[in-house]
Amino acid sequence: AAKANPHRRTEFYRTELCEQAERQVALTKLLRKAVSKHQFRAHYQSKHAVEDGRLTGYEALIRWQLDDGVLVSPAQFIPVAEETGLIVEIGRWMLAEVCRQITEWRRLGYSFGRVSVNISGRQLTDPEFVTTVAEIIGKTGVDPSDLELEITESWLMVDPERSTEILRALRGMGFKLSIDDFGIAYSSMNYLKHFPVDVIKVDRSFVRDILTDRDSQAIVSAIIAMGHNLGREIVAEGVETRGQLDMLRSAGCDEAQGYLFSRPVPPEDVERARRMPLRQEAVAS
Ligand code: C2E
Ligand code: MG
Ligand code: MG
Ligand code: MG
Repeated sequence: AAKANPHRRTEFYRTELCEQAERQVALTKLLRKAVSKHQFRAHYQSKHAVEDGRLTGYEALIRWQLDDGVLVSPAQFIPVAEETGLIVEIGRWMLAEVCRQITEWRRLGYSFGRVSVNISGRQLTDPEFVTTVAEIIGKTGVDPSDLELEITESWLMVDPERSTEILRALRGMGFKLSIDDFGIAYSSMNYLKHFPVDVIKVDRSFVRDILTDRDSQAIVSAIIAMGHNLGREIVAEGVETRGQLDMLRSAGCDEAQGYLFSRPVPPEDVERARRMPLRQEAVAS
């Protein structure tokens, strides 16, 4: 019955849009307070060598915990934080938190490789960005080569020349750099050659279909071959099955990350896992 009434449809969309806008405003207000209320957390997901599964590092992923304990996914609030510019402050908090955590883990004697942090392209447009990063590094005393900064391909392509400049500055400071979610945006091979990055992270959507879709498999193989020719390391995201991992191994992929190994976990869980080998050594001696 409703399908015959076009006004009703318009009405429906209008209400829907209003609700969406209202939600956006409400979310923005909550997000503004979240930094001062210490509601963000960093969780960590392990990365592994495809060859033998050994731990190579972690990716830090932000979590927003509301007063009632509910966790809001970054997929929901990062876009709003980017639109409102709040990402600049949130991103600064996140980097400082990860540096604090690295210092703590080093002090405890854990070996954990590099920790990567996601940087929004919106942060790169902040003229103070490089200075802010230098300050955090100076204050925490972290070695920049213990950190990897992940920037999505789509952000890098917004202004490739400017991106290249900033990446150069960051790399000059000693950071490892990676292109995140690679393959879903349009990158010309020429830019890829010029972006001074160490790592290319193949987007999860290709990994998901790698066993069932020939095109995805072809794309992943091509990214790996091209990346290696350019001297980059290749990390596959979203590896969930043994079969996907085997396929990635035969394609020559360097590292993998995904639920097959671990979900993102709070730092306490990382610490528990890192303590274990030490305990085993203690038992053996
Ligand atoms: P991303 O950087 O590509 O991170 C990988 C996402 O894939 C994470 O989602 C992770 O939990 C999820 N994932 C990992 N392995 C698997 C798997 O095997 N299967 C499936 N289905 N998913 C997997 P998460 O934590 O929800 O983060 C979503 C996105 O939010 C991130 O994508 C990143 O773009 C953004 N993000 C997260 N933390 C930050 C941050 O601190 N700053 C910024 N700017 N963005 C962040
Ligand atoms: Mg990432
Ligand atoms: Mg990614
Ligand atoms: Mg992704």
